[in-house]
Amino acid sequence: MLDNLKDAVRKFLGSSSYDKAVNDFIKELQISLIKSDVNVKLVSNLTQKIKERLEKEKPPTAIERREWFISIVYDELSKLFGGDVNPDVMPKKIPYVIMLVGVQGSGKTTTAGKLAYFYKKKGYKVGLVAADVYRPAAYDQLVQIGEQIKVPVYGEPGNIDAVGIAKRGVEKFLNEKTDIIIVDTAGRHGYGEEAKLLEEMKNMYDEIKPDEVMLVIDASIGQKAYDLAYRFHQASPIGSIIITKMDGTAKGGGALSAVAATGAIIKFIGTGEKIDELEVFNPKRFVSRILGMGDIESIVEKIKGVEEYERIQKKMEDIMAGKAKLTLRDIYNQLIALRKMGPLNKILQMIPGINIFSQIPEEQLKLGEEKIKKFLAIMNSMTYKELDNPSIIDKSRIRRIAKGSGSTPEEVKELLKQYQMTNNLLKMVKRKKGLAKLFEDRT
Ligand code: GDP
Ligand code: MG
Repeated sequence: MLDNLKDAVRKFLGSSSYDKAVNDFIKELQISLIKSDVNVKLVSNLTQKIKERLEKEKPPTAIERREWFISIVYDELSKLFGGDVNPDVMPKKIPYVIMLVGVQGSGKTTTAGKLAYFYKKKGYKVGLVAADVYRPAAYDQLVQIGEQIKVPVYGEPGNIDAVGIAKRGVEKFLNEKTDIIIVDTAGRHGYGEEAKLLEEMKNMYDEIKPDEVMLVIDASIGQKAYDLAYRFHQASPIGSIIITKMDGTAKGGGALSAVAATGAIIKFIGTGEKIDELEVFNPKRFVSRILGMGDIESIVEKIKGVEEYERIQKKMEDIMAGKAKLTLRDIYNQLIALRKMGPLNKILQMIPGINIFSQIPEEQLKLGEEKIKKFLAIMNSMTYKELDNPSIIDKSRIRRIAKGSGSTPEEVKELLKQYQMTNNLLKMVKRKKGLAKLFEDRT
């Protein structure tokens, strides 16, 4: 199951031999995906892509190979679920009819209410149709939710013609100029009744012609998801998937099977029993849940920090080449990026090439963590104009900045002095380089 992947990530990050660990991890990933009934071709494409990137790309400076590898797995797995973009959950047209399908107890009725509330808050006029005629209390359950969120509910208690109810409910709401109509349906009962239910689903689909069929599945369903989603898909083409009860388990691997079986995208996840516990699906967050939230987040943050840092390095090179001027904002960005990556001293040792610190004599480099915090606070109180052009910072600005950052005017002046010093050092280094270049050119 995909739910084993968290342990695999842990094991991988703590392993001693990198190459063996990579192979072990990829094998584990393949087994997990295939056990989750994910299409074998999809699995082989995914691992192929990961291997390709391992060959072609290089880990960014200051990022361990191990962490970089996990970030690639994370990236590629996220792509399977929709990649960087959040799904578009807004109706493509008005009126818009949504039909919810799924097994008994998966959370259809609850989700119908959550969706109604979600769209109502966005300003749409919403209506709910109770078309589950098998569960005696189904109508009452929906009416109760409707009252709670002040959304009208159509139903015909006592009538067992689900297709007829759905049809009349949709018609009524269309006549009332409702924007979004959500039809709640019955779930699968005992084994023998399944065929009958799927038949009903198909008839209902043909009759009301919904703009979108949403399949509701329970996060803990696991391996059964593929088969289930596939059969529902045959009865009525699934347009999107909602995974419920994500709060209960850290599972959800089965969702990938449902995606594979239907080709549909996941649009929402349910994270609790309450009416507002519905989130628009975020592929990356979901995959980090599968791989182990804490591990992934810290790796991603670190890589972001490094990318930011490398961007700043480029700017520093421009400054050294005389193409740009060093501003306080550069120093600010650099400090922020450094802090994202971890303890300052360790990072400084890891990063080769030009950075403002490597131009500063050793003893001055020892800006303590406290001082960095102070400087960041001071720079946070500066305007962009001041950061970009520190020469405009006069006495009254110093007083304002000191007050805003909870520091003394002396401390502000110290930062400005530090900046000035760095600037002078840079000029010196530049001049030296210029001289060296002159000599080079002559020989
Ligand atoms: P239906 O048979 O598919 O209509 O399922 P229901 O909407 O009646 O829900 C079945 C049970 O699951 C109820 O007790 C709900 O409160 C619960 N439920 C639904 N969605 C969620 C969710 O996202 N999180 C949790 N913890 N419970 C949920
Ligand atoms: Mg129900």
